[in-house]
Amino acid sequence: MFTLDDENIKYAVIGDPVAHSVSPAMQNAAFMAAGLDERYGKYHVKPEELPEFVEFARRNLLGFNATVPHKSALIPLLDEISPAALAAKSVNTVINRNGRLYGDSTDGYGLETALFEAFKLNIKGSTIVILGAGGAAQATAFEFVSRSAAGLTIVNRTRSKAEALAQQLAGKDTLLTALGNDETDRIAAAVAGADVVIQATSAGLRADDAPPIELELLKNAHAVFDMIYHPTKVQEFARKNNIPCADGRGMLLHQGAKSFSLWTDRPAAVAAMRAALDNALNHK
Ligand code: NDP
Repeated sequence: MFTLDDENIKYAVIGDPVAHSVSPAMQNAAFMAAGLDERYGKYHVKPEELPEFVEFARRNLLGFNATVPHKSALIPLLDEISPAALAAKSVNTVINRNGRLYGDSTDGYGLETALFEAFKLNIKGSTIVILGAGGAAQATAFEFVSRSAAGLTIVNRTRSKAEALAQQLAGKDTLLTALGNDETDRIAAAVAGADVVIQATSAGLRADDAPPIELELLKNAHAVFDMIYHPTKVQEFARKNNIPCADGRGMLLHQGAKSFSLWTDRPAAVAAMRAALDNALNHK
């Protein structure tokens, strides 16, 4: 059973696990900067508890964010879904409008804004390599295709998943290629021809993880965006080789800022959110 620990909690993040989430620190900085009394909490919600949580939220919260593993499982439980979230099969933001729950996704906006901030990169017309074909890579790939990237190469350890994703996305303006992570010559060529390489695998979440591809394959990259928030071997390699590089903080920040605006109809205090995010991550 879910309960409210604090009557000011009107928003929350849900996940399984969720203890590591820095979204409460970041969002509460935004609520405080806006002079609002509402606060943002976190709930550990197991997959089988999701329907119960949704009904709890309908009665008690004004909105919530969802992270792994709930982003697609939420879709049939909500009353309305934005076209973009439906097409990407991924909801990360739920807005409670007088008891009707509306699902949206701010992940695409977060990534797009972070890429522009880090590299002045516009997705339209750009050529991109994504490492990974899991949930984050799928949402990212969907964003690139819907924003008319010129070319997208998906590289994954399990090649069949890269192929399935490329097939799912086919039919728009983007030229799609799927590769296994052992196809070294083709990866090197794709990396050299791309505007940015997006690291969207979970390899690197632990400090001793091996990188998702041989690092030398990145040596001719023009820019590297690693969705992981803390230092990884990929980021270390990029920096040593003077390749412009950013970690996943910017994406987390901007998806959160957009969620805040959707809930409150106000611009988010991005600088306060960034400072709170950096502080929370640096203390982990
Ligand atoms: P999933 O579990 O859905 O997918 C994991 C992916 O990583 C798969 O493509 C998998 O390949 C690949 N992989 C795992 N281990 C290895 C390895 N040892 N070598 C090569 N490839 C490997 O995870 P998500 O997509 O949900 O998350 C991926 C990353 O993105 C995480 O690090 C997460 O923290 C980050 N993320 C960051 C966000 C941000 O805001 N910055 C938002 C969302 C996610 P295979 O198919 O072969 O198993």
